[in-house]
Amino acid sequence: MQDPSVTIEDAPIFDPVAFRLTDKEAKLTATARDLGQRLFAGRAERYDREAIFPTENYRDMAEAGLLGICIPEDQGGAGADFRAYAITAAEIGRYCGATALTWNMHVCSTLWSGPLSDDLEMSQADREGHLERRAMHYRRIVEGGKIYAQPFSEGGAAAAGVVPFSTNAKKVDGGWVINGKKIFASLSGSADYYGVLCGEIKPNEKPSRKDTMYIAVPASAEGVEVVGDWDPLGMRGTVSRTLVFNDVFVDDDEALMPRGVYYQAATRWPHMFMTLSPTYMGLAQAAYDFTVNYLRGEWPGLPPVKRRMYPTKQIAVAQMRVMLEQTKALWFQAISEACPDPSEDQVLRAYAAQFTVMENANELAQLAIRTCGGQSMLKTLPLERLYRDSRCGSLMLPWTAEICLDRIGRQGLYKPGETDE
Ligand SMILES: Cc1cc2nc3c(=O)[nH]c(=O)nc-3n(C[C@H](O)[C@H](O)[C@H](O)COP(=O)(O)OP(=O)(O)OC[C@H]3O[C@@H](n4cnc5c(N)ncnc54)[C@H](O)[C@@H]3O)c2cc1C
Repeated sequence: MQDPSVTIEDAPIFDPVAFRLTDKEAKLTATARDLGQRLFAGRAERYDREAIFPTENYRDMAEAGLLGICIPEDQGGAGADFRAYAITAAEIGRYCGATALTWNMHVCSTLWSGPLSDDLEMSQADREGHLERRAMHYRRIVEGGKIYAQPFSEGGAAAAGVVPFSTNAKKVDGGWVINGKKIFASLSGSADYYGVLCGEIKPNEKPSRKDTMYIAVPASAEGVEVVGDWDPLGMRGTVSRTLVFNDVFVDDDEALMPRGVYYQAATRWPHMFMTLSPTYMGLAQAAYDFTVNYLRGEWPGLPPVKRRMYPTKQIAVAQMRVMLEQTKALWFQAISEACPDPSEDQVLRAYAAQFTVMENANELAQLAIRTCGGQSMLKTLPLERLYRDSRCGSLMLPWTAEICLDRIGRQGLYKPGETDE
């Protein structure tokens, strides 16, 4: 555990002047950094060791208004857009990966139904219904501090966006009946609502990804069950157990998007799948920060032994800095250009940014351990947790490191519709 009486004031990951942040972005990132440094860093070790949900951090984030970060200001939120959210989440990830990653699942329920949906096409009736329904979801969050999760993984090819979800929703009078199973459901047992992606069953029609529905299932609804355990390598505080839905009835108002809008979002607003990367941007920064403070003999609570005078340490820190700056620059560009209907070049850059952050976060943590040495990997220090947590990044569907490489290579070599036949 870090000694809370000794702190070094961390500089922002993205300096507001150098990166030309808006006032809102500067304020939100400062709030996140303050909470992270003052409170979350010291709690992270227990959440990780016991694999428990960061409940106290969520209370603090609710108080600071961060649960409603992407909710419009006139509805009590902070009105953050995609980039403002992403750089704020990076500051949280710097201090507690599990908090940032689970917070992402919660925020997506408001980002996707909010600023992102505003960019998509809907009939007037759908738009009116959507605005009314989302206002109800937003009130729950802003006034009631409710937490939303976002389970879409099922263990098959659906989470990669290849086939329709097998968790299904059947339209009935006044609502939907949901059946299915979701694996790796972060916040399971702690969220108040599960924002489930599921396929609408239509009589006499084959399941289609176009019929994907995004529906909030109350955790207390009859037929919702959390099963199995959660004892993974890293990101242990996400508590991503399995969720089972057995004939769960939910009201019409629980829809987070009207029919057809999730599919439209997935095809027209692809950067929506980059929202898992901010956590790992924060972990990358944390690995670098730790190394510098450790080698300077300034890590809080440790004897002030300096190790910075060896040329090998200086070279390693230089290599880490180069890798960190490359990661930051590419990622910042990609999140800055997120928009509906991006060009092919912008989408390829987003894949490259996602790949770079996910892989470099872990490579930086590896370098940090090698450079700082044996004592740095003891469980009393955060570095070994950064190493384990960062390893999980490139596994996150739908944009795993492998899938990003696959698409960058294929789309670089083949124009749409081109084959070698
Ligand atoms: C800490 C943590 C928290 C998570 N939280 C959530 C959550 O809250 N909600 C949620 O929905 N999911 C969550 N996930 C799940 C995550 O997105 C994956 O679905 C999960 O890791 C299981 O996937 P898998 O690697 O077993 O998938 P598999 O489908 O078995 O894929 C294995 C690998 O094969 C490759 N692959 C798969 N499909 C393709 C393809 N079509 N083309 C090319 N390569 C492919 C990918 O690289 C993938 O990594 C979380 C995962 C982790 C690690």
